[in-house]
Amino acid sequence: MATTAVDVLVIGGGATGAAAAYDLARRGVRVLLAEQRDLSTGTSGRYHGLLHSGGRYAVRDPETARECILENRVLRRIAPFAIEDTGGLFVATALDPPDFPQQWVTGCAEAGIPTEKLTPGQAREHEPTLATDITAVYRVPDGSCDSFDLVHVFVNAMRLFGGDALIYHRVRALLREGDAVVGAELEDTRTGEVRTVHAACVLNAAGPWAGVVAGLAGLDVRIRFDRGAMIAMNTRWVNTVVNRLRPAADGDILVPVGTVCVLGTTSVHTDRPDDNTIENWEVNKILAEADAVVPGIRAGRALRAWSGVRPLYEPPEAGHDDAVGRAVKRTFSVIDHVERDDVRGLVTVVGGKLTTCRLMGEQAADVVCAQLDMDKPGTTADEALPVPAAPSRRYHQLDHRLRQLEHGELAGELICECEMVTRRQLEDAIAAYGDQPVQLDDLRRDLRLGMGPCQAGFCSYRAAGILQQMHGTSGQEAVRALADFVNERFRGVQPLLWGHGLRQFYLDEVIYRRTLGLDKLSWDADAEGDGAGDDAGIEGADGFTL
Ligand SMILES: Cc1cc2nc3c(=O)[nH]c(=O)nc-3n(C[C@H](O)[C@H](O)[C@H](O)COP(=O)(O)OP(=O)(O)OC[C@H]3O[C@@H](n4cnc5c(N)ncnc54)[C@H](O)[C@@H]3O)c2cc1C
Repeated sequence: MATTAVDVLVIGGGATGAAAAYDLARRGVRVLLAEQRDLSTGTSGRYHGLLHSGGRYAVRDPETARECILENRVLRRIAPFAIEDTGGLFVATALDPPDFPQQWVTGCAEAGIPTEKLTPGQAREHEPTLATDITAVYRVPDGSCDSFDLVHVFVNAMRLFGGDALIYHRVRALLREGDAVVGAELEDTRTGEVRTVHAACVLNAAGPWAGVVAGLAGLDVRIRFDRGAMIAMNTRWVNTVVNRLRPAADGDILVPVGTVCVLGTTSVHTDRPDDNTIENWEVNKILAEADAVVPGIRAGRALRAWSGVRPLYEPPEAGHDDAVGRAVKRTFSVIDHVERDDVRGLVTVVGGKLTTCRLMGEQAADVVCAQLDMDKPGTTADEALPVPAAPSRRYHQLDHRLRQLEHGELAGELICECEMVTRRQLEDAIAAYGDQPVQLDDLRRDLRLGMGPCQAGFCSYRAAGILQQMHGTSGQEAVRALADFVNERFRGVQPLLWGHGLRQFYLDEVIYRRTLGLDKLSWDADAEGDGAGDDAGIEGADGFTL
């Protein structure tokens, strides 16, 4: 069994773990980050895309509002490549409580959030799709943020400072010696290989799984899980973030993110950190609420729905123990297990927002450094992150790639027509993984492959073929990778089967089930990699569920 020794092991490759690992590496700490899947595949990859101004929390949760506006400014400064400065509007309708805007303006002023009152006419000049019966509008400095880009850049920057990251490595055990956590056992989820990591301190940044990870050390960190659903519409509909100006409720926000407009979200209690269910009422509610501020949007083409789980933590001593859903504050907690449990070598960071991930990372790193007897302050707010080298890793709108295509800057034939991904881009992205295994879903996050209107209907079999040629994987593996990818794309389409989306789904069914016969294929794990013919293990009919 391989053994490694580092100063700090960070568990979790979401925004918080990535920001904390980067912070620690800048302080000169030898850090290793372990993520059980790919980077940004937990809540950070299943979020709404809003760089909060803090306006959302100005009345009920002033602490979070203040954190958001401060970190909004910091992230714009250090990670401009991941952010689109869309600006934001808070819009009241006749259906909303008439006394709320005044409370909200006061809350924003107290939290330091700048607001500018517009007339409904001025707002509609700026955003022509807004309803004609809006009663009050304010402008705030919201934005949208690509979490895949942000997290990758935190991790790449951490590497420049000497740190390392292992993706597809699950922490399956924490090593305890008496009253101290001294490391962890990591399992490579692709090969099953196990390695031991000795660490002077372990930082638990496992998001909704933070309670499970703390449990590996025999500690009890109770987290409430709050699920929220979102829907991506196929065009931007608005170019500014539009928030409903009322006490926070379901379906309040529209966020233009890259090529799409994301509507959301809901707040549903769940008892599972990985609950990605989307219920029909959530879809109906989100579309109806969005339609009240942008009439007609519910009849537009919805591309995909997904949901994520908010880990809500309030220490029992905070006195809000029976709060649920939106009543629980969105600020974060850093738990020093020396103080709380008399256990050294473990720190947990949980809660918060993606907007506040850098601050969470910094404060968690402060507590880790205190445990290491290090007295070096965090400096992540001071210096811009390195701009991603590969243009594909930069936040883009569709017209960016359209312009590049027209000017001959994007070479190679189109593989994904919806998101304009060319063969060259795909090949470069695959090559960037070197010898590491790469999955179609990784390429989706890198390039937006398969995220457009056909939801991978046309591009995925082409991409699977190119990937197989370049990596020399067996036909069996390629078929399985294709089925996994297509299944996952279609899972997000299934709650939205009407109109164009339904027609597209039938077409995809013809391609994948009736033409390629993916539903007729399954695989026998024992037959994999035995060299007895690529397709030796493919038989039966349970690999593809479209
Ligand atoms: C519906 C919804 C909408 C949201 N919208 C917004 C928004 O618009 N703006 C905003 O600022 N915030 C938003 N948030 C909040 C934001 O998404 C989260 O605060 C943030 O993504 C949390 O990041 P994290 O790194 O703490 O957790 P995660 O991103 O969940 O990362 C934790 C990681 O730990 C890994 N992990 C778990 N167990 C192990 C293990 N044993 N071994 C190795 N790895 C492990 C997981 O795979 C995961 O990748 C939203 C949240 C939800 C649920």
